Amino acid sequence: MNFKNLNLINPIIRAVTETGYSKPTEIQCNAVPPILEGRDVVGSAQSGTGKTAAFVMPILQLLKRHTPEHKEIRILILTPTSELAIQLEENLGIYSKYLPLSQLSVYEGIPIGSQLAALRKRVDILVATPGRLLDLQNQRHIDLSKIEILVLDKADKMLNMGFINDVKNVVKLLPQKRQNLFFSTTMPGSVRHFAGTILNNPVEVIVSPVSSTAQTAKQAVCFVEKEKKTDVQADALQKKNIRSLVFTRTKHVANKLVQQP
Ligand code: AMP
Repeated sequence: MNFKNLNLINPIIRAVTETGYSKPTEIQCNAVPPILEGRDVVGSAQSGTGKTAAFVMPILQLLKRHTPEHKEIRILILTPTSELAIQLEENLGIYSKYLPLSQLSVYEGIPIGSQLAALRKRVDILVATPGRLLDLQNQRHIDLSKIEILVLDKADKMLNMGFINDVKNVVKLLPQKRQNLFFSTTMPGSVRHFAGTILNNPVEVIVSPVSSTAQTAKQAVCFVEKEKKTDVQADALQKKNIRSLVFTRTKHVANKLVQQP
């Protein structure tokens, strides 16, 4: 499978290829086709699986396919934190490098004034944290009535952080007819229920978590008496020249391990 097989257009393939990616990841193979067909998608995938590009590439293409004369925002991506909003805006910038589309992110932590100025220009895709979006909407600075695609990123985190009502209030402001993409790292019952209130006959895309251990890493278990533990650890770290990150339960143990001769 390559990016062309996914029916992605050349400007997107060019941008992706320039990042150094030679082929789509599993979630990209599974999520891009239904998104391009206009279907709602619920995706469960961890960070590191290429999940962001899995929805960013097709939504850019959908936007490009029909670009009516407009000034309104057409895609809304909701994400729980400012850091994630920044990352998403960066990703949008990378994949839309060869497309005449504009994106903006609004989130807490930067003065609302600068965001208002940016919102006066044309914005095709808005990335937002729910709280800041509602602030701007309450002050009548944002028109969400022409949104064609809603993306919920990290939905489980959104729920855990208590944003469920904010998200519901945002959804009420959107047109009834729209495409919904819902991504979550985990899919417990509460998240599934939440997805059910937003999505319409979705295609479900689940990918297995990325392996957390590199194939070249050797693993071993070593049973030792409690009092010998620090010695054994220090010995293993020094003698075997192991590059490692050691987690300890207390600061005290961390200090002891570092000070071990
Ligand atoms: P994400 O799952 O969105 O957190 O992405 C994890 C990482 O995978 C990011 O650094 C992406 O730049 C990278 N990535 C996205 N698509 C691909 C791909 N097709 N091949 C290799 N890496 C990718």
